[in-house]
Amino acid sequence: MPDTLRILRSRVIPAAGFVHGFPERTGGVSPGPRASLNMGVRWGDDRANVDENRRRLAAAAGYTAEQLQVMRHVHGTNVWTVGEPVGDDAEFDGLVSNQVGPVLSAFAADCVPLLFAEPVARVCGSAHAGWRGTVAGVARNVVARMSALGARPERIRVALGPSIGPCCFEVGSEVVVEFRAALGDLPGLVVPGPDKDHIDLRVALRAMLESTGVLPEHIDDTPPCTRCTPERFFSYRRDGREGGMHMGFIGLCPIPGH
Ligand SMILES: [Zn+2]
Repeated sequence: MPDTLRILRSRVIPAAGFVHGFPERTGGVSPGPRASLNMGVRWGDDRANVDENRRRLAAAAGYTAEQLQVMRHVHGTNVWTVGEPVGDDAEFDGLVSNQVGPVLSAFAADCVPLLFAEPVARVCGSAHAGWRGTVAGVARNVVARMSALGARPERIRVALGPSIGPCCFEVGSEVVVEFRAALGDLPGLVVPGPDKDHIDLRVALRAMLESTGVLPEHIDDTPPCTRCTPERFFSYRRDGREGGMHMGFIGLCPIPGH
């Protein structure tokens, strides 16, 4: 079947007690350059297509579309704890929860979707991190909010989803300056390219997560590059707003016997 719905799952997030994954672009109903499992409405796809895609993903992953928690991302660092009251124009790039039921989302198309799981305190989180959010510390803020719910950094697992790799993430010198200011002279952060420098967002996010106390072996930072893999992933750098958007998801589910 060429158009099966496929979900990547990370080895660092426990299968027991969590539902999570990063779907590829196949198995949905959106047409054209958004074919086919487009998860975002902001770039002009029909709402009905996106709703059907979200329903198919939920059915494949083992939750219902009504459980999905969606927040507008703005390349910021605000984190929403599920249940907190929010206004109509609320904008959050991170979500956290310690409840069974809500499924958190992280939308991206080259930016890095991150999923967080703490299996002892039973807390989960999600984040959208482009270069601005990475530099500004959205990943650090998610760890802090999870800790406020009882999570301990040394028990938090973090999976980085499909996103633009250092092979493709060419940036201007002003962006390099921002990364150096936030993270110092980190090995592997800046990769010289044929024209401009490239940034490795995975190196930046790993450093930031480790600075909060997340253990190196609890970070899965080897996702595929979205821009290099058009048959599997959407990419904003490659396709612009005509293309589709991905959605990582994570939620707590009951553990049998507990
Ligand atoms: Zn690439």
